[in-house]
Amino acid sequence: MVNSIDDRVKLSNSTEMPWLGLGVFKLEDTPGTTDLILNAIEIGYRSIDTASAYNNEKSVGDAVNQSPVKREELFITSKVWNADQGYQETLDAFEATLERLKLSYLDLYLVHWPVKGKYIETWKAMEKLYSDKKVKAIGVCNFLPHHLDDILGNCKVAPMVNQAEFHPYLLQNDLLEYCNKHNIQREASVPLMKGKILTDPVVLKIAEKYNKSTAQIILKWDLQHGVITIPKSANISRIKANTELFDFVLTKEEMDIINSLDRDERVGPHPDKVDFGLTK
Ligand code: NDP
Repeated sequence: MVNSIDDRVKLSNSTEMPWLGLGVFKLEDTPGTTDLILNAIEIGYRSIDTASAYNNEKSVGDAVNQSPVKREELFITSKVWNADQGYQETLDAFEATLERLKLSYLDLYLVHWPVKGKYIETWKAMEKLYSDKKVKAIGVCNFLPHHLDDILGNCKVAPMVNQAEFHPYLLQNDLLEYCNKHNIQREASVPLMKGKILTDPVVLKIAEKYNKSTAQIILKWDLQHGVITIPKSANISRIKANTELFDFVLTKEEMDIINSLDRDERVGPHPDKVDFGLTK
């Protein structure tokens, strides 16, 4: 059971990662974003999830470097973008990310999407960054079981994390079971379905019982599933509200009711159908 924002999960290589973090997709690369992240750190967030594709690594790094909280206590994730995949390209993209962040290491580096024909070479570069101790843990995003089979069958180090879309309308039980079996920690991207799920009447009813918001119920459901969650908000009161999850516990029946909302509905692209021609 996750009991506070300070709680961390031990990844397969013993790196400890916070269960709850702040997603920063769509936040602009501005001093306002740096201030927002500094405020989130003051509230208690220690984990920040960025990506080179979000074009805000500089603002994230400024917050980390200006924060009174020690670097070792913060957990910074970034991702290699599709156009930068391949062995040398990934090594170069990692250095460019560190430079924008003005950091000497990352806590977690992720492959952003399984780019067909490239992700194995990309993963070999991730292994190199890991063995060179430039990053504490490595992982993937949006990988399905067949992509993970490919990595496990062809590479030396298994991904420690798989960050992929997870919310009550998209459970992907097969993926959850696969990751649990192989000790790959699941992390929910778009946990609030970009806001789309927050008016669901079933979740609303449970929220009323606990005097919580639907967002809080869904984030708690993530944690009770053993899935790391990284909601994004540009609003400091919602950033704070998203941490107020530790004074109630969903019953097994309520978990099942929320699970039954699954309808295999995504807000992001399907990993086997994504257009990898997309550039930043
Ligand atoms: P989320 O599912 O986190 O939803 C964010 C939306 O929910 C925003 O519109 C926000 O509005 C709103 N919101 C947040 N908290 C509350 C609240 N308490 N009450 C009401 N509304 C709320 O979407 P994201 O796409 O941002 O996903 C989260 C993170 O996951 C990203 O920021 C990113 O770090 C990661 N991600 C990774 C992907 C990948 O491919 N690896 C893909 C997509 C996301 P407002 O800002 O106005 O509060």
